[in-house]
Amino acid sequence: MVEKTNNTKKNKKEKKQFGAEVSRLLDILVHSVYPNKEVFLRELISNASDACDKLRYQALTNDKLVKSSSELKIHITVDTKNNELVISDNGIGMSRQEMIDNLGTIAKSGTKEFVDGIKEEEKNISQVGQFGIGFYSAFIVADTVKVISKNVDSNDSWVWISDGSGTFTIEQNSFDTPTSNGTSIFLSLRDKMDEFLDISNIKDIIRTHSDHISFPIEIAEFKEGILGEVESANTSNAIWSKSKSDVTKEEYLELYHSIAQSFDDPEMTIHYKAEGRYEYDVLLFLPSTKPFDLFDPAKRSKLKLYVKKVLISESTDIIPSYFRFVSGVIDCPDIPLTVSRDVLQDNSVVIAIKKAIRNRLISTLSKLSESDSVKYSGIWNNFGAVIKEGLYEDYEKRDDLLKLLRFQSTQGTDLRSLNQYVADMKENQTSIFYITGELLNTINANPQLEGFKARGVEVLTLTDPVDSFWTSTVLGFEGKSFKQVSQAQEELKLIPIIENKDEKVDKTSEDNKNLSEAIPYLKTILDLLVTDVRLNESLVDSPVCLSIADGGVDKTLEKILMERQGTEKALPVLEINPNHSLIKQFSKKLSKKKSKDLEVIARILYDYALIMDGEKPSDISIFGQNLQEILKRSM
Ligand code: ADP
Repeated sequence: MVEKTNNTKKNKKEKKQFGAEVSRLLDILVHSVYPNKEVFLRELISNASDACDKLRYQALTNDKLVKSSSELKIHITVDTKNNELVISDNGIGMSRQEMIDNLGTIAKSGTKEFVDGIKEEEKNISQVGQFGIGFYSAFIVADTVKVISKNVDSNDSWVWISDGSGTFTIEQNSFDTPTSNGTSIFLSLRDKMDEFLDISNIKDIIRTHSDHISFPIEIAEFKEGILGEVESANTSNAIWSKSKSDVTKEEYLELYHSIAQSFDDPEMTIHYKAEGRYEYDVLLFLPSTKPFDLFDPAKRSKLKLYVKKVLISESTDIIPSYFRFVSGVIDCPDIPLTVSRDVLQDNSVVIAIKKAIRNRLISTLSKLSESDSVKYSGIWNNFGAVIKEGLYEDYEKRDDLLKLLRFQSTQGTDLRSLNQYVADMKENQTSIFYITGELLNTINANPQLEGFKARGVEVLTLTDPVDSFWTSTVLGFEGKSFKQVSQAQEELKLIPIIENKDEKVDKTSEDNKNLSEAIPYLKTILDLLVTDVRLNESLVDSPVCLSIADGGVDKTLEKILMERQGTEKALPVLEINPNHSLIKQFSKKLSKKKSKDLEVIARILYDYALIMDGEKPSDISIFGQNLQEILKRSM
């Protein structure tokens, strides 16, 4: 987009403020000791390469650009005398407005929030290093940065200058550099940055971080007004079109860092040539750490789609969103070059590739889960919560995805699969039982689990928010339905209790009579706090517990609905253990005389149930008073 400027405005130098998030990022970059200073080169070369890619793409539909697109390259000039390094490209260039927007704010969703979120006291470069810091990395090595750029559709070129301290200036270029389209970035280097004026060192850095860039990168020294010998600095290595055995680990790593903008080692590299109806090269990476924006709703997979060496798109939906942590390259000559990005998704070749890639990812993970469960567990722990989204997004693959799931369970610390769960089901058990919550510790202390423990029945303990969604849409696995523990009493009664747990309960008719008075009494006292009070004969060690009223949603889902839709919290059901001595005594006393003491105890029992459910007492001051009261009396 080219801005039309009127002449009065044109020649005026304007001073502008950086967006708050840029100032913050620059502050962190300049005031921390950045360990890998050379990353600025990778970032600026990557931007230059993107600009060349953009021009080549536009040339597909604009004949006037064909000539410029045939000589695209990146040029680096070293000027030792003036302590200056210049990175130039003859790519798409920027208009005045684009320079203001692109070099004054951080537009990328997620990154802005991430930078904003870095707290003052944690101003930590390692956090910044988690993602590509892009253009602003120039300030790691330069005290002043000057950018001259000319957009390919414009006659004017513009000069942007900043010393990184909160503002930049922009004015029309009164000199004639560059006369052609493209961008030059002039870095006036800080003290002790001589290593970035050493041509052989720069070439090493380029070979390590940017060798795959598909445009020629040239380097030359500027000395006494003359440009010296031009040397080539990269091999333009499209490693995805080579066979696996010809690619080194370092080459994979370099490409992964460049595409994913993430600087860990890939946990898995999937590289193959697809053959059949369409032929294409595929190179995919699974990261070993969670990207910081994994749950950003706008996050898409970083996948470069090339057609005959032309970069068509960097953010297609070729990889389903439940695999959005996967990045890589697909290079397919069968996609028509002229297909517009907007309708790319409807192209039949793209649709076929999309399905094939999804299937390949699922089958690769499935094989890994069998061959190397430790490595698979690592991937699952990082990305399982994302993969689970596929259970309701991709109905077609639901059964295959269910097999990939791994769970924490009451069985032990190892992750469990549904196949393992089903194989270990107990006599008369027909459902797969689960409990949801935020923290494993709290879940494991939930009294609802007592009846299951007494029967040796395994319960899946689910802690991801997404668990509340898929469990309500997935009907079952191999004919067994998923069931929340609080809805399982009837089925549980049919499953035998193991050995000694089967305490002989001698319930007298007097007990029964007393209990029948306790329930209506508790309902009256706790009237505004619970919807109902009922017996739960599965409880073993706890006197009471809470459960969701019939037809209610689980707690995690309820919290999400409360936040997003402002719905009200539903009242729980208080369940009492008829075999517990506390309940028996409570009922006995009650049958003799209703007293203020019993009211206090009723309220404490309710708060106890809340605490065991991972919540706070309903009213801290009442809870405190009641507790003191009881303690005083027990002294
Ligand atoms: P990113 O490249 O990740 O989007 P940057 O901060 O590196 O973030 O750059 C911001 C934007 O500035 C780019 O998206 C691009 O639009 C523009 N830009 C940067 N360098 C160049 C360049 N050499 N040529 C054209 N545009 C550029």
